Amino acid sequence: MSVLPIVQWPDARLSEVCAEVGQHDVSQLISDMFDTMYAANGRGLAAPQVGVMARLFVMDAGWKEGTQTPLVMINPEITPEGSEQVLEEMCLSVPDVAVPVSRPKSLCARWTDAHGAPQTARFEGAESRIIQHEFDHLEGKLHFDRVSQSTREALEAPYLKALA
Ligand code: ZN
Repeated sequence: MSVLPIVQWPDARLSEVCAEVGQHDVSQLISDMFDTMYAANGRGLAAPQVGVMARLFVMDAGWKEGTQTPLVMINPEITPEGSEQVLEEMCLSVPDVAVPVSRPKSLCARWTDAHGAPQTARFEGAESRIIQHEFDHLEGKLHFDRVSQSTREALEAPYLKALA
């Protein structure tokens, strides 16, 4: 069990585009990221959130409801589709702030799994939402970046005040 420190906004690493994961072994990183995500009571965690600028994330949409469904996506490509829905999103890098984000309800994904095998699948509901949020981290984007400037400023203000 190894819980890593989580990079906190406004750390600049949260705004960087991550590099493709090559042939190196990321199994220890994945294991540590799951430990970190569960310890922080989260449903998803992307590598840049633990300071590793690589295109992978871990998630588990159902563990809080008692059904563990751990999923690892390495070098994911996603195609969101369908009508959009506004839902409040939390981020382990921006504690205690809920941001209402509009995103398509479903998506198709291609990725490499933890064993190095290529995978494709379609996702809906909570999983689709988490995948889109975590994928954004690999692109250097936060939920903040998907709302209007005025909404963003209103959400950021108390947070920045608390940091000061
Ligand atoms: Zn996040």
